[in-house]
Amino acid sequence: MEAYFAQFAYLAAAALFILSLKWLSHPTTARRGVKAGEVGMALAIAGTLVHHEIVSYQWILVGFVLGSAIGIPLAVFMPMTHVPQRTALSHAFGALAAALVGTAEYYLHTEQLSTFTMTALSLEVILGFLTFTGSLMAFGKLQDLVPSRPIVYKGQNVVNLLLLAVAVAIAGYLIVNPGRTELFPAVAVLSLLFGVLLIIPIGGADMPTVISLLNAYAGLSAAAMGFMLDNNLLIIAGALDGSSGFILSVIMCRAMNRSFTNVLFGGFGQVQMTAGTAEERPVRSATAEEAAAILEAASSVIVVPGYGMAVAQAQHKVRELYDALSRRGVDVKFAIHPVAGRMPGHMNVLLAEADIPYDKLVEMEEINPELPRADVALIIGANDVTNPAARHDKASPIYGMPILDVDKARTVMVIKRSMSPGFAGIDNELYYMDKTMMLFGDAKSFVGELVKELSGTRTGV
Ligand code: NAP
Repeated sequence: MEAYFAQFAYLAAAALFILSLKWLSHPTTARRGVKAGEVGMALAIAGTLVHHEIVSYQWILVGFVLGSAIGIPLAVFMPMTHVPQRTALSHAFGALAAALVGTAEYYLHTEQLSTFTMTALSLEVILGFLTFTGSLMAFGKLQDLVPSRPIVYKGQNVVNLLLLAVAVAIAGYLIVNPGRTELFPAVAVLSLLFGVLLIIPIGGADMPTVISLLNAYAGLSAAAMGFMLDNNLLIIAGALDGSSGFILSVIMCRAMNRSFTNVLFGGFGQVQMTAGTAEERPVRSATAEEAAAILEAASSVIVVPGYGMAVAQAQHKVRELYDALSRRGVDVKFAIHPVAGRMPGHMNVLLAEADIPYDKLVEMEEINPELPRADVALIIGANDVTNPAARHDKASPIYGMPILDVDKARTVMVIKRSMSPGFAGIDNELYYMDKTMMLFGDAKSFVGELVKELSGTRTGV
């Protein structure tokens, strides 16, 4: 009876995981996607808990309480802007769990391990351990616990690849001779070390992409564990995790016009350290009153949100601005760059939270042809994704990255606190154009002032 329940729960969970990913891919169905994933995970846990091989629930309960005590505060108190590092931490723990299960299986059943099982186990342990330390390093870089600049030295790639090759070679030997248990710790230690060495040459700027890649490794490790434990659900969930992680990394690389090799070996964050200062050139700044006068006279405004809007948590004020302008008959749309903010979908999530209609959120490819016809491009805390240097300056670190063509709008307004650069650490020539008005201030307060101007004293003008 339990076995039937477990199989049914696993089947339903697998279907729900697939549906969840499908629904998560569109804002209108994303909430349903999250719910489906939650129910799927609950079913997967229930199916596992009725397993006949469980002799005592004591340690499971301890793990459940401990995991919940860490996981719940992490989910509740971690701000949205820290989601990349939170994700890195959860990958680290997931990968460690997979690696430890593999290690336990190896020592418990050394004599019975077939070549196939031993191959899956080796893959699981190598990927699990390297993802564990790699994800911890990524977390440390994003949280500024370790230097986020790339640490590079001559022959680094050769050393790293050699290290991995030795780990794989020992694992290969163990597949043929599983009884040589004294060699197993070497595989674990080399994989742990490789995880650290893999991340130190990569700059903080590339961490979100690397985290997505590590996500894929953690998924592959879980899938290998599924083969080892003969558990279909783990194979399916691991494969989904692995492939979606790879696809996401590819999408992010494409949106930044980078290749995988460039991300892994490019030392991108170095630029951030050296090119940090903005040029001393005159810019035209304006007040909220002046900006509001132009905005209310416009017939179309395209808002470009970026990381600064997320930091300032200005999305609700942006919604008020949208309402104020729409009431005055201004056509307002939101231009969404695929890597605006610090994680894929960052802007969509924030704007959805503020109940801005989904049909007003327009992807980069679709909005770019509309920008030359827009009266105002209103940039709220975005920088790199609007930098025209990406189109023509071959020396720029963001050269080739597709950008939002805001410089083609009739008037450009930029809300940011100072002339400080964005994530890539470079100056933005957009700010020095004649048609650009710099609106200096915190995004939330400045947008609030605009709303006041538009709906307060100026109402009825
Ligand atoms: P950005 O280039 O990082 O610029 C953000 C701007 O926001 C800064 O120039 C900053 O200027 C301003 N800002 C910060 N706090 C603010 C506040 N409280 N109020 C107003 N402005 C504030 O952001 P982006 O244009 O969104 O570009 C994203 C960058 O992240 C790209 O380089 C992208 O490649 C990278 N990235 C994104 C992802 C992803 O998945 N989304 C992943 C990896 C890398 P001030 O300090 O002067 O205010």
